[in-house]
Amino acid sequence: MRLRYCVSWLAFFLFSMVAGLVWAAPADSAVSITGMRWGKTADAVTGSQTIRLVLETSAPVTVDQFITAKPNWRIVLTMRGVNADKLKILPSPDPTVVKSLSTVKSTKDSLHVMIDLPAELKENQYKVFTLKADPKAKRPFRVVVDIEKPVPVTDVQFSTGLRGKLIVLDPGHGGTDPGAIGPRRTYEKNLNWAMAVQVKTILERAGSTVLLTRPGDVDLTPASASDRDELRVRTMVANNRKADIFVSIHHNSSVNSDLTGTSTYYYPKTPYDAVLAQCLQSAMVRGGGLDNIGIRTANFFVVKNTWMPAALLEIGYISNPQEEQTLNNPAFQQKMALAIVAGIDHFFGQAAKMRGGR
Ligand SMILES: [Zn+2]
Repeated sequence: MRLRYCVSWLAFFLFSMVAGLVWAAPADSAVSITGMRWGKTADAVTGSQTIRLVLETSAPVTVDQFITAKPNWRIVLTMRGVNADKLKILPSPDPTVVKSLSTVKSTKDSLHVMIDLPAELKENQYKVFTLKADPKAKRPFRVVVDIEKPVPVTDVQFSTGLRGKLIVLDPGHGGTDPGAIGPRRTYEKNLNWAMAVQVKTILERAGSTVLLTRPGDVDLTPASASDRDELRVRTMVANNRKADIFVSIHHNSSVNSDLTGTSTYYYPKTPYDAVLAQCLQSAMVRGGGLDNIGIRTANFFVVKNTWMPAALLEIGYISNPQEEQTLNNPAFQQKMALAIVAGIDHFFGQAAKMRGGR
């Protein structure tokens, strides 16, 4: 009896010690960042560059992240139960993307990794994810941060006028992709093409050099390629030739056949994109006389992945029977082509008054 009492007391004592050890062990020593490395990748087509930060950890971790503008632009990663006591911090491989990295322990079990940036970074310009350990490849658990290099903003100071400008026009769709189809079987790709050719002619008369992203009613990529690949080739035309501006020409469509009007889309990657969109929109509404839907920002591939100021026009609704008729009218097309050229001319005038760069 006495012995049994003793044994159970001893068992309780041992249990308490083990449990105490587990409870007493501060969570912040449970997982450590064992190493870090930087990497660089460049997209072969668009040329956009990404800096990759890899933090190696001794066990899986969960990461919270946010971006802050104060005291300067930085990405902050927060990991609970993680320490960076043994981490040797390596300098940034490209100070135009990342200035520096530092860690700070805030509360008992939280670690903040701070990635200082030289300039503003948008939410969609970075991503954070974790990777599992891969024993076969001898890879530990990892936290990965991909940061896009800011788009090289047109560092030229724009001059006024159309003479000497290099303009890329992108007639939307084409080949096996008809785009939207109107109630009278109007193919969007054909309207886009007709408009692009007329705008090109007028611009060339004014002294601009104009490139079209497709040579005719064809696909630019093999049938096996994705839509994204097709769009990449279009942006590549403008990026490789360092065009001054990029204008994508489309016609709109909706299941609601009552919808009518003109709209212009842009992605605010340079100080000029919104100005280009507004100049084109105002000119088209004035010259074409359709309803004014206004300008809008959008994540569309071609306006986002071109380096120069870019806009995507939705000239009118092919899905509205009356507007479909107007859009097919050669007199309307000529008026609208002149309006688009006037909008481009106005843009260069406005841009010449602005300072380049960010
Ligand atoms: Zn379209």
